[in-house]
Amino acid sequence: MGLPYAEVIGDPIAHSKSPQIHKFWLEKLGIEGDYRATRVAADGLGDYFRSRMADSDWRGCNISMPHKLAARAYAYHRQDPSFPPWPINLAYRDPEGRLIGEEFDSAGFIMSMLKLRGESGGPRSALILGAGSAARLVAWGLAHFGSAPIWIRNRDEQKARTLAGDYLKVGVRVLPPRAATPPVDILINATPLGMAGMPEAEIDLKPLPDHALVYDLVYDPPETALLRQARARGLRAVNGLSMLIEQAVPSFHRLFGAMPPRADDDALLALLTS
Ligand code: NAP
Repeated sequence: MGLPYAEVIGDPIAHSKSPQIHKFWLEKLGIEGDYRATRVAADGLGDYFRSRMADSDWRGCNISMPHKLAARAYAYHRQDPSFPPWPINLAYRDPEGRLIGEEFDSAGFIMSMLKLRGESGGPRSALILGAGSAARLVAWGLAHFGSAPIWIRNRDEQKARTLAGDYLKVGVRVLPPRAATPPVDILINATPLGMAGMPEAEIDLKPLPDHALVYDLVYDPPETALLRQARARGLRAVNGLSMLIEQAVPSFHRLFGAMPPRADDDALLALLTS
């Protein structure tokens, strides 16, 4: 037996901060183990899971863009039948040797919003940019806060309509790709625009009210042009680091069997933004 390890997979994946987070906790807790970032292309997902399941040192993987829906095909995933197809962001081997899929991004988003809620009283109306896995999870999280209406705007309008159709009970509404920004209480970027190596998101923030919150799920760089623009307008601006850490907590527990030391969060945040 070699060193137990876990990893985050995606394409691209070099930007991921998950290795820094999990290695920080492994070191703090004195657990012998490793956590890597591994690029896996869409057509390589099946081979990836087959080879890792044959490796007894492998504990599991977090799943990043664009594999969160496709990875469901390889893992046992308990899904509420009344829900639309649900992404997973973690796959791990259970004691019986089965590959289990779980999703902690929505919990991570909710936890990060709970921390903000103390300051803001909670969001009311929302605009989500994008219609991928993250947009799907964020819409669900916002619905749990009682946000209404929840608008969604995506360059591929049909994809936004599919998401809204899946969420009829929640009441997600679709805006055409070029529609003006509505005067919402919270605007969320759930696209990779602004991420290192990608073009910046060009969003008109003028229609937002002065109390609006701009939440960018992107965390690398920690301050995107969208967040800079929001701060320049005097709006509250939040990046995706808090959500990333919150979803990593239950992932770490599944992968390494221990709860992360949350008392060290400030040191972790300093490391991630240095
Ligand atoms: P995804 O499933 O691949 O969806 C990406 C969405 O962004 C799609 O709706 C796509 O539009 C849109 N998009 C992609 N490139 C675009 C471009 N050049 N211009 C306009 N729209 C574009 O990805 P995801 O898993 O939802 O992730 C989205 C972002 O959220 C990523 O940056 C990811 O790192 C971040 N994220 C952060 C956290 C966190 O913990 N902070 C957690 C999850 C995700 P089409 O539908 O038209 O293709």
